[in-house]
Amino acid sequence: MTSGPGAVAALIADAKSVVALTGAGISVPSGIPDFRTPGEGLWEKVDPAEVAHIDAFHEDPRRFWSYYRPRFADLRSKSPNRAHQVLAELEAGGLIDAVITQNVDLLHAKAGSERVIEVHGSIASSSCLSCGASYPLESVGELFGLDGVATCACCTGAVKPDVVLFGELLPERAMVEAEELCEKADLLLCVGSSLEVHPVAGLPELTLRSGGRIAIVTKGPTPYDSDAAIKLDGDVVAELSAVLDALQGAPA
Ligand code: ZN
Repeated sequence: MTSGPGAVAALIADAKSVVALTGAGISVPSGIPDFRTPGEGLWEKVDPAEVAHIDAFHEDPRRFWSYYRPRFADLRSKSPNRAHQVLAELEAGGLIDAVITQNVDLLHAKAGSERVIEVHGSIASSSCLSCGASYPLESVGELFGLDGVATCACCTGAVKPDVVLFGELLPERAMVEAEELCEKADLLLCVGSSLEVHPVAGLPELTLRSGGRIAIVTKGPTPYDSDAAIKLDGDVVAELSAVLDALQGAPA
């Protein structure tokens, strides 16, 4: 039996429906630290679960935006890496159906992935909580007053990024779509996610329960390691590049 990236390539080639599920680990090589890793950049001195919490947004919007506004600017400047590109190429080649992602950084779309389900929302837009006005990423900067808080140009209501903050429910439509994809997937390819944050952590269970298999490409342990058909523990860029090479090298 083959092992390593070749085995993942074989699983992809054999499956009728392959869905990718990605987390923070796929964006680390793009210079976006996983904020659960201590001592990294912007979040170094704060607890994101406290600052990026919906209660903090309501209670102290100035403090919220003092952390979130530079994060927006930082994320806007990032580019997809080879791991994002491999998933986009697999989709273009008809080998994967969709990418479900916990990331809000838009890097799958920038890499060319077309069907991306963003279960934690994204930085692409922000919305007024009072009148519902929607502002694209490029124009949110114009909404800030001297107090450093973004308010709606129409009604002066509070404007919140369309990302899921701590303490908020996940967007229902995206979760339903993600669940349907995972239920019908023959193979769920989990990349760069510790698979520990619920409810996304329950998605691989749906694939397993309906008879599908899971493959994991993630550094460090996950709760699904013993259920996975294969687990690759190396760097996501190196591992996914090798999977693509194995698929391209395989006889048709
Ligand atoms: Zn408004």
